[in-house]
Amino acid sequence: MLDPEVEARPWEQQLALDDVAHREQLAYLLERSGFYRAKLGAAGIEAAADAGGLEAIGRLPLTEKQELRATTTPDEPIGAHLCAAPEEIVRIYSTSGTTGTPSYIPLTAGDLDNWITGSARSYAASGVEPGQRIVSTYNAGPFAAGAALASFERIGLCHIPVGTGNTERLMRAIELLRPAAAVLTPSYAAHLVEWAAERGVDLPAASVERVLVAGEPGGGEPAFRAALEAGWGARVTEAMGIGDIGVSLWGECAAQDGMHLGARGFVHPELIDPATGAAVGMDDGASGELVLSHLRHRAAPLLRFRTRDHVVIRMSPCPCGRTGPRVRCIGRTDDMLIVRGVNVFPSAVREVVSGFAPDVSGHILVRPRDAGVKQEPPLPVRVELARDARPEEGLADAIRDRLRTALVVQTSVELVPWGTLQRSEYKSKLVEH
Ligand SMILES: [Zn+2]
Repeated sequence: MLDPEVEARPWEQQLALDDVAHREQLAYLLERSGFYRAKLGAAGIEAAADAGGLEAIGRLPLTEKQELRATTTPDEPIGAHLCAAPEEIVRIYSTSGTTGTPSYIPLTAGDLDNWITGSARSYAASGVEPGQRIVSTYNAGPFAAGAALASFERIGLCHIPVGTGNTERLMRAIELLRPAAAVLTPSYAAHLVEWAAERGVDLPAASVERVLVAGEPGGGEPAFRAALEAGWGARVTEAMGIGDIGVSLWGECAAQDGMHLGARGFVHPELIDPATGAAVGMDDGASGELVLSHLRHRAAPLLRFRTRDHVVIRMSPCPCGRTGPRVRCIGRTDDMLIVRGVNVFPSAVREVVSGFAPDVSGHILVRPRDAGVKQEPPLPVRVELARDARPEEGLADAIRDRLRTALVVQTSVELVPWGTLQRSEYKSKLVEH
């Protein structure tokens, strides 16, 4: 543990400390944020004392990404939630802007330091140790994920950045520099297993003992993870963050039973029902959309920010000794489809299909027939066969039956030959409308 005093602190004690920080953060927002003064004012909150403490946070309004975006103007390109003076800002990241124009994420020196501290705890949870080498495939570039790279030095690792999009260079770095760990997206980790097999490269014999995956859901799904672990001959653990709140906020330990909150003390987690916005208790086994609030952020703190990540909570004690909630991300609310009233996450479809290895490659593509979220059954799913596999009689039916049993969804399964579905060096597309 990087900070045993913090990471193993009883969760109730953490919440008591966070309660104080939350009240101070609210006062700061009311003083400095035009966005939150208006938003909280509309909810009848003029002073921090009106809001109550952390226990009452579920009564405060949620924040949506679009609301922040809507307040940007040419004069205020960051948005009305900016709290810090220009001279206090030391870095400005951009979001990837998949929905159009990028939005900006400013940080003070203290914010950036807290991001790195939380990220370092999350990555250290995987078991990587000072003195080891780690190869990374994220580009620092304009995106917040780049801030996570500084956490490797914080842990005491030797960091070998090779960036995205050059598999030859990555494999040469692994062969020659012999890193003990690699950090990449689960899609890219899966792609490299195939890449190595096609070239006769013995990936399990390589130096990498730990594969740290982040950037998209999937690294925690048992069948998908088992395939990655076999392909790499390494232990696979996942990490998760969200640009607007912080990088690698969560990180999994060797017990592989959900991600610990490395950013504890900086960020407060909650669950809501994504359909109604109602608060859901953080009980063992509960699931819902993750909502995060900054506790001691300065540049542009967010309150009850909807992450769109759909997670399951674990509250049972973890053998590693870290306390507090753990999460497993089961998909993005944005990717979710509703098939006759049943929520279906494409990554869950992939997980069920992966159970048919070695007959299938593990690549799937959901092809909804209707625009939007709501779908009429059967839901079309393309399933790629493994290399050299012949479509066996009854395989499509067996996959369809297991999807129906496991996910309560009626599908039509189309088997396609090896290599048909697109591979990714970054994030996979599992749905195509
Ligand atoms: Zn643990």
